Amino acid sequence: MPTCQCLLVDTHAHLCAADFDADREAVLQRAREAGVGAVIAVGEDLADAHRNVRLAKTHSMLKPAAGLYPTILDLAQADAMETFIREQRFHLAAIGEVGLDFWVVKDEPQRALQQEIFERFIDLSIELNLPLNVHSRSAGRHVVSLLLRHQALRVQLHAFDGKAGAALPAVEAGYFFSIPPSVVRSRQKQKLVRQLPLSAILVETDSPVLGAVPNQRNEPANLCLAVTAIAQIKSIPVLDVVAAVVENTQRLYGEDIQDG
Ligand SMILES: [Zn+2]
Repeated sequence: MPTCQCLLVDTHAHLCAADFDADREAVLQRAREAGVGAVIAVGEDLADAHRNVRLAKTHSMLKPAAGLYPTILDLAQADAMETFIREQRFHLAAIGEVGLDFWVVKDEPQRALQQEIFERFIDLSIELNLPLNVHSRSAGRHVVSLLLRHQALRVQLHAFDGKAGAALPAVEAGYFFSIPPSVVRSRQKQKLVRQLPLSAILVETDSPVLGAVPNQRNEPANLCLAVTAIAQIKSIPVLDVVAAVVENTQRLYGEDIQDG
């Protein structure tokens, strides 16, 4: 694994989580030493969004995002989040995380509300030209069809748990799929990596979760575990994976995503 190139971007991590309050700078230093140049700092609610914007001022590696976690079915919070995103649009790297979670939300009227809120954020991402950092759980097909119906342009599907068949229309639309270190222990993710073209792949850690070892705190330095797993699954050199994910990340987030 090449180190200290600071080329890779962890495209989805929760560095605002209290899990990192004691040692956030040490965690980011380890990430730099492992070749990670930037982290898209996603959030789940307005408090996270404020925190991410604030943390980015003191930790230049962090690129803040703002979004409402799909299990928060509250139109007032959606309104407040939309206002925050409009106000902070030039400081934000993405809208996220947002999406659909049919694993937690099973009631039909609640799913309809979840869909309505997600659609608002899709439209907002188009209007403001911000990438969408999308959560989908047991809702892969629904997420992809909503994104296509609304003609979303800049899309990252994070920790996609759907079938490869559901992913392919998204690949055709130019959407990206981010692969976490838990790919080493997930047959579904391994299958997804096998089916996806290299040109559609990003890497993420979803820190503090989705690590290679269940229930152990995950951190951005572990991004290299996802990169090496992708190389193994696709039987290609690690450096080819690095080159592809760097290029893909720049296509989605812009070439200056790593600038402090
Ligand atoms: Zn997440």
